[in-house]
Amino acid sequence: MKEDYYDILGISKGASEAEIKKAYRKMALKYHPDKNPDNKEAEEKFKKAAEAYEVLSNADKKARYDQFGHQAFEGGGGFGGGGMNMDDIFSQFGDIFGGAFGGGGFSGFGGGGRQRVVKGSNLRIRVKLTLEEVANGVEKKIKVKRKIQAPGTTYKTCDTCNGAGQVTRVTNTILGRMQTATTCPTCSGAGQIIDKKPADADAQGLKVSEETVSVKIPAGVVDGMQLKVTSKGNDAPGNGIAGDLLVAIQEEDHPTLKREGDNLHYDMYVSLPDAVLGTSKEIDTVTGKVRIKIEAGVQSGKILRLRGKGIPSINGYGKGDLLVHVNVWTPKTLSKKQKEFFESMKEDEHFVPKPESSDKSFFEKVKDMFS
Ligand SMILES: [Zn+2]
Repeated sequence: MKEDYYDILGISKGASEAEIKKAYRKMALKYHPDKNPDNKEAEEKFKKAAEAYEVLSNADKKARYDQFGHQAFEGGGGFGGGGMNMDDIFSQFGDIFGGAFGGGGFSGFGGGGRQRVVKGSNLRIRVKLTLEEVANGVEKKIKVKRKIQAPGTTYKTCDTCNGAGQVTRVTNTILGRMQTATTCPTCSGAGQIIDKKPADADAQGLKVSEETVSVKIPAGVVDGMQLKVTSKGNDAPGNGIAGDLLVAIQEEDHPTLKREGDNLHYDMYVSLPDAVLGTSKEIDTVTGKVRIKIEAGVQSGKILRLRGKGIPSINGYGKGDLLVHVNVWTPKTLSKKQKEFFESMKEDEHFVPKPESSDKSFFEKVKDMFS
């Protein structure tokens, strides 16, 4: 059962507009989050009071509420289960406190009021990774020049907005007096300005410091991908929060392996005698060298698939394969003796191509590779 709006504000049903406003003002000051930090109960009361005031201060809504109770706002148009958010509530303040920022209205908040959290700027850096680092993941120590709050900088409440972070402007329009709250131009919404700062600090009380930031890079990252290291960008002045460090991944070319998604390709060249007689060869993988066997009679274009020897999926779903492409190297020049040998083999039945169904055509292999 939802609490009665009049009960929440501690007033009777016949309360006048002025009484409603006064009651809400009292509640808002008492339960304001700045006065009750980390107090969930106070925050709840603060929100409930705001919701009650939102309805009772509006003649039309009040009339509906008086007639139908909470049902009047059910099924859309009401506040549902979520109630009002803090921004709604604070935007209501310009109205309830009559724009009297600093004139007494907000003094009860100890200089608090509606402050915008100022965030420091983000920093961007690029980090080069070898294919092995991409495949195995790596922790990189990166030197970053970031702005930090200079020790010795002190802040004071902004005079323009009295710490509210916003200023209210009243303009006369044909619809009556309009109040608009805008971000304070002096403190950019922070509510604070610099009081004292050391000589080496900039206008915002910040100075550049070189720091080593450790960045954990997961296996499977892709060239161009951006990782975020929270709060390792530039500090914000005063009580703001630091920006983030954005790390762009740049993948270096590998001398023998080519990446394609999570799969890797390796071009292997086999001499004619090795292709005919069979052999074994050492090849590069991202986890070190591996020796693989080449069967006698291997055909050029054959693809050997080494399962799981590719790049781990960034999403954590398994690993790609390493595809070894066999290229039989045909000699371009021969000695007289060798030439005679091949001449004599021209009519030999062993040298006549007899492709088997297992010797897939190039196109079928390509199809197979991507399946
Ligand atoms: Zn200000």
